[in-house]
Amino acid sequence: MQRLETDVLVIGGGSTGTGVARDAAMRGFRTVLVEKRDLTHGTTGRYHGLLHSGGRYVVKDPESAKECIAENRILRRIMPHSIEDTGGLFVITPWDDPAYGDQFRAACAACGVPCEEMPVAAALHLEPRLNPKIQRAFALPDGAADSFLATHANAESARAYGAEIRIYHEVTALLLRDGVVWGARIRDLVRDEEIEVEAAVIVNAAGAWAGRIARLAGCEVNVIPAKGVMVAMNHRLVNTVLNRCKLPADGDILVPIRTVCVIGTTDHKVPDPERYGIEPWEVTLLLEEGEKLVPGLAGARVLRAWAGVRPLYSEQATSDTRDVSRTYALLDHESRDAMRGFVTITGGKWTTYRQMAEVTLDAICRKLGVERPCRTHLEALPEPQEGKYYTLGAPLADIESAHHTAELLCECELVTQDRVERAVDAGAVTLDDVRRDVRLGMGPCQGGFCTYRAAGLLQERRKPDVRETNLALLDFLQERWKGLQAILWGAQLHQARLDELIYLGIMNADHLETGGRKSPLTDFYFQEDSGPPESQRAPAGRDPA
Ligand SMILES: Cc1cc2nc3c(=O)[nH]c(=O)nc-3n(C[C@H](O)[C@H](O)[C@H](O)COP(=O)(O)OP(=O)(O)OC[C@H]3O[C@@H](n4cnc5c(N)ncnc54)[C@H](O)[C@@H]3O)c2cc1C
Repeated sequence: MQRLETDVLVIGGGSTGTGVARDAAMRGFRTVLVEKRDLTHGTTGRYHGLLHSGGRYVVKDPESAKECIAENRILRRIMPHSIEDTGGLFVITPWDDPAYGDQFRAACAACGVPCEEMPVAAALHLEPRLNPKIQRAFALPDGAADSFLATHANAESARAYGAEIRIYHEVTALLLRDGVVWGARIRDLVRDEEIEVEAAVIVNAAGAWAGRIARLAGCEVNVIPAKGVMVAMNHRLVNTVLNRCKLPADGDILVPIRTVCVIGTTDHKVPDPERYGIEPWEVTLLLEEGEKLVPGLAGARVLRAWAGVRPLYSEQATSDTRDVSRTYALLDHESRDAMRGFVTITGGKWTTYRQMAEVTLDAICRKLGVERPCRTHLEALPEPQEGKYYTLGAPLADIESAHHTAELLCECELVTQDRVERAVDAGAVTLDDVRRDVRLGMGPCQGGFCTYRAAGLLQERRKPDVRETNLALLDFLQERWKGLQAILWGAQLHQARLDELIYLGIMNADHLETGGRKSPLTDFYFQEDSGPPESQRAPAGRDPA
C-alpha cells in the first residue's frame, strides 16, 4: 500500500476544497487534496452560475448577504477571467408585493450591498425582454461566474504552491487513535489501489457529503442535502441577472451564461446527495415562473435541465430547506466532539468559498500554533489555459485567427480537436470530464454529433482496450440523457430523436462491447427521487389578471 505524509489533507474537490487547498499551500503547508470523482463533479459543477451580490439574502439572511458582497468584490479582483460582469436587476412583477421594495432597499443599505433604484423605462431599455408590467427595478452588482474555470484556476494555483491534487481518489475510512484523527484510507479508483495518508489536520470539505465523512470519525454533522433544479434555455434571452424582488422562492432568478440563460431554482430536501431526479413538474414550475420575468420564455427552446444538491448545515432538523441559512459553518471537532486533527467546513455559497477557506486555515494555524496570514485575496488566480469567461464570439475569433485549419469536434460550442486532446492529455478520465474542461456536448445537440468523434479521439490518444472507450461513449450519452428526459417536447424532442437514430439506429450503440465493465461514473447520481408530495409543492403563482 502506498503511504503519504502531509500537513493538511483536504477531502473534496469542489470550490470549497480547492479553495482550502490553495490557501493551505500558499501559507506554506504541505497539502494533499483528494476528490472521489473529477474536480467540480459535486455541487460546484451543478450550480446556477451566479456571483451573488447578496441582494437575494438581505432581508431573510443578512449574515449571508454580507459574506456575499464582501467576496463578490474580492472575486472580481482575483478571478476576472471566470466572471462576467452582467450586473443584476431585482424587479417587482405584478405577482410580487410592492411594499417589499422599500424593505429590500433598507436591508441592502444595512448589509452594505449597493442598490440603486432605476426608472422602469430604463430597466426595460436595458433588458427589452423584461416583463413590461414590472412596477419597480433595482440595480445590484450581481454577475455570472464559471465554476469550472474558477475551480481549475484554484487547483492550478494550489499546485504551483506545491499542493498535490488527486482526482478519482475516494476517502473510504478515517484513521483514529486516542481521540485523534491522524489519517485517511483512500481508494485510487483508476488504478484500483489503496493509499494511506497521514496528516496533521484533515479538512472535511465534502459539501453535501460532509455528514458522511464526519461520521467516519464518529462525529454527527447535520448536512441537509437540498436539491435545486435549473433549466437552460437555448438562447441568451437576457444580458443581466434578473431576480424577482421578493423573499427567495422557486424559479425567481434568470442568469445569462455564455450563449444561454438559466432559470432556477427549486429547493427541496432529498434523502441522499447522489439519488435525485428531475421531475417534469419542477421544469413546468420553473418555466411558469420564468415567464413572469420574461414573457415568452416558456415558449423558447429548452436545452436541458439539471440539478445540484445544496450542502445546508443546520444543528436542528427542519422541514423547509428555504429556512436554513446560506451562511457557512466551520466545525472544530476537537472542541465539538473531542476529536483532534479534524475540521469540517460546510454550508455557504460558491460566492463565499474563498472566505470559507480563509477561516478554515486561520483555525488550522491557531491549532498548529503558527502565524501565517492569508494571502488568497491579494494574489490573482492564474488565467486558465482554456482562456477567459467567453461567449461564442471568442472561440470563433480564435478559430478564425489561429486555428483556421483545426477540426471542430463540437460545432455547438466551437470546441476544436486540439482542446479536447489537451484535456485528455491533462488527465481527463471520462468524456464527462472532458465536457467539464471544454464544454463539449453542452450545446443544442447535447452530444449528438461530438460524442462519437470525442470517443474516437480518446481511443486514438490513450489506446486503451476498445471496450473502455465504448463504455466512455455510453456513459457520456447516459449522462446527457439524464438532462433531457424532463424536457422532451418541441425542438429538443426532434433533436433527441435524431441523436437516438445516430447512436441506436446507425451505430447500434446499445450493443457495443463493454465486457461487463463498470466505469467510475456508472453508480453515481441515480434518478430515483420523485420529489415532495403534491401538497408540499410550491404553488405556480397567482395570476394577477
Ligand atoms: C441548485 C443550486 C444552485 C446554486 N447556485 C448558486 C449560485 O448561483 N451561486 C452561488 O454562489 N452558489 C450557488 N449554489 C451553492 C454552491 O453551488 C455550493 O455552495 C458550492 O458549490 C458547494 O461547494 P463545495 O465544494 O462545498 O461542495 P461540492 O462542490 O459538492 O464538493 C464536494 C466534493 O466532495 C467530494 N466527495 C464526497 N465524498 C468524498 C469522499 N469520500 N472522498 C473524496 N471526495 C469526496 C464530492 O465528489 C464533491 O466533488 C447553488 C447550489 C445549488 C444546489
